[in-house]
Amino acid sequence: MSQIVVAGGAGFLGSHLCERLVARGDSVVCLDDLSTGNGENVAHLLGSDAFTLVVTDVSEGVDLELDDKVDAVCHLASPASPPAYLAHPLETLAAGSEGTRRLLALARAHEARFLMASTSEVYGDPEVHPQVESYRGNVDPTGPRSVYDEAKRFAESMTMAYFRTFGVNVGIARIFNTYGPRLSPGDGRVVSNFITQALRGEPLTVYGKGTQTRSLCYVDDEITGLLALLDSSLTGPVNIGNPDERTVLELAQLVLEVSGSDSPIAFEPLPADDPTRRCPDITLATAELGWRPETELADGIARTMEYLAPKVRAA
Ligand code: UDP
Repeated sequence: MSQIVVAGGAGFLGSHLCERLVARGDSVVCLDDLSTGNGENVAHLLGSDAFTLVVTDVSEGVDLELDDKVDAVCHLASPASPPAYLAHPLETLAAGSEGTRRLLALARAHEARFLMASTSEVYGDPEVHPQVESYRGNVDPTGPRSVYDEAKRFAESMTMAYFRTFGVNVGIARIFNTYGPRLSPGDGRVVSNFITQALRGEPLTVYGKGTQTRSLCYVDDEITGLLALLDSSLTGPVNIGNPDERTVLELAQLVLEVSGSDSPIAFEPLPADDPTRRCPDITLATAELGWRPETELADGIARTMEYLAPKVRAA
């Protein structure tokens, strides 16, 4: 059994990670300020001796009184949905900068492995396709999305500085668009928006012409990839995503098909700096971690719909 600190553990991805760690016998200390995370996501874990929730903002403090050694620190604390990080720009920058520094210091003090949850957004609007880890990205440092993109780029830089300066055992994952249960109906990301709209019989809001692409990874697959990285000694960065690339319009049509909804499609303006295409090259993850995603998009959409349907009905 290992003791693992999961920052952002009450969030969408974080809560799935906590659940899988507890299920395999690890002991988890979950840090979350419950800003975009939600206590409901981890309510089922609170009764377990192997799970502790500490409500704290990691950019302000991670002073933990822990009797046991920490074996790993996972940093998933950040707003992740574009509407959320655009509404909280300074908090997003703080989570990626000061939050990362404090968590790295914790990992260093315990000689623990440090897992940094970075993002495909470090590639910005990519000129290289599919995106390989060696591609350095095309980010506008002063654009509205930069609060997220640059926070994560800085976090990667800080992680590598702790690796080079202090020899901290680090692993950097670049997470591509992920979806699944525990996305909230009001989250604002494309899958939760389309499913919620389809279930309500409202128009599906396709931004721009819907020709932009994304490659969507089901949450269980994503967590399997993150655990493989956590359990390895790979430094990375390594892409953890599903290379099944679709246009946003194709995704809207698939959601309509899976739900059987007759909602129309409504075209709305494209947000500033919205990347035109995104698809991971996962050669490295497959070679080094033996990982590849397995869930078909239509199956994952159906499972996410099962989760969202009662919430949408209750709202
Ligand atoms: N999008 C859309 N309608 C929505 C929400 C998002 O067409 O209701 C588009 C968005 O413009 C982007 C893609 O879907 O091209 C993915 O958006 P999301 O916010 O999920 O994540 P991003 O990849 O932009 O961080």
